[in-house]
Amino acid sequence: MKTESILLALETKHPGEHEYLQAVKEVLLSIEEVYNQHPEFEKAGIIERLVEPDRIFTFKVPWIDDQGNVQVNLGYRVQFNNTIGPYKGGLRFHASVTLSSLKFLGFEQTFKNALTTLPMGGGKGGSDFSIRGKSNAEVMRFCQAFMLELWRHIGPNTDVPAGDIGVGAREIGYLYGMYRKLALENTGTFTGKGLDYGGSLIRPEATGFGGLYFVYQMLKTKGIDIKGKTVAISGFGNVAWGAALKATEMGAKVVTISGPDGYIYDPDGVSGEKIDYMLELRNSGEDIVAPYAEKYGVEFFPGKRPWQQKADIALPCAIQNELNEEDAKTLINNGVICVAEISNMGCTAEAVDLFIEKKVLFGPGKAVNAGGVATSGLEMTQNAMHLNWTASEVDEKLQQIMKNIHEQCCIYGKQPDGYINYVKGANIAGFMKVAKAMMAQGVV
Ligand code: GLU
Repeated sequence: MKTESILLALETKHPGEHEYLQAVKEVLLSIEEVYNQHPEFEKAGIIERLVEPDRIFTFKVPWIDDQGNVQVNLGYRVQFNNTIGPYKGGLRFHASVTLSSLKFLGFEQTFKNALTTLPMGGGKGGSDFSIRGKSNAEVMRFCQAFMLELWRHIGPNTDVPAGDIGVGAREIGYLYGMYRKLALENTGTFTGKGLDYGGSLIRPEATGFGGLYFVYQMLKTKGIDIKGKTVAISGFGNVAWGAALKATEMGAKVVTISGPDGYIYDPDGVSGEKIDYMLELRNSGEDIVAPYAEKYGVEFFPGKRPWQQKADIALPCAIQNELNEEDAKTLINNGVICVAEISNMGCTAEAVDLFIEKKVLFGPGKAVNAGGVATSGLEMTQNAMHLNWTASEVDEKLQQIMKNIHEQCCIYGKQPDGYINYVKGANIAGFMKVAKAMMAQGVV
């Protein structure tokens, strides 16, 4: 593969799209060897076709705030690749959202969804709108204005959005309500819906639960029990919540959670009602974690990240590139055993390289956090069948899917010395599935 020249051409075409270029580079470097064994891929221009999204919708979202002022945000939907199923992926509402971040997320989603074994293509969307400090009515008006544009591009068999950062149960309710009104259909063109209108049990927990099921499998390869281990978690939203819940249930102790304002260190463990309190914090719309420290009398570290604390397991659960090389060094010096990204691309490329070099168990987001979208796939199945599975039925399927993803990573990622390079494993397994399906379907 002419990796260097492909990357150079992409950089020239899309200057400044750092996250997107970072994600593409990681995948290309890890699949190079396998790709070169398949000259038919090169002939069919698989890479050139795979790195560009199928199409992108960009639109303005005008809405009126509570003071009567007109506000204008940008909205996007990146339909990345639908070779193996309808476009599928979340919507992110966050001030940091740019086309670059959504292109990286859509690209990652394509491989992640392939890994789940379910028939879902990759997509992502969102807006630079931030729910921080907005009233409920403002959030509703924004969601409705956003959907006024997006609805004509989505559908149960074309593109199925879901939540992501800033888009939780409340936002999905408002978005779906407007979609349903405009599209005049009710087949579940959204996942993460409320239980009363087509949602699936375990979907809210699924990303965090799936992450811990994956961590369990990773530790098992080394004969290590998660029980009694200390866990550093970043973030305090839906993903961090699910992760804290399952980690605690498995007998581990969660000692940190964090927000944009800093992190808290709770030596007794974030457990029981303290985990429920995370939801309260999220719903307050203030996007700060400091009130936890006040409420439970623990230490708060303003402006700092949780990776400076000693922990056996580190779980980034917030946003991309939230753990850098310095953080990786600190974690390694403190004896970290396992680092698993439950956020998408939570670690910088340098941090990932260091973990792999030092043979730390490292799980990349597209494998570790695939439980969220996998359970979205299960929600789509239930909607199509017009019935609901029980929580244990969904959870059992989720566990099986995570085990399967772990196995796929081992098949392609096991090194001669026995170390499992999960980055390589996940990238190759995801790529091979999409590439083979693209080969079968011709140049389209
Ligand atoms: N936003 C989640 C992800 O990054 C879930 C997407 C979905 O359920 O479609 O995978």
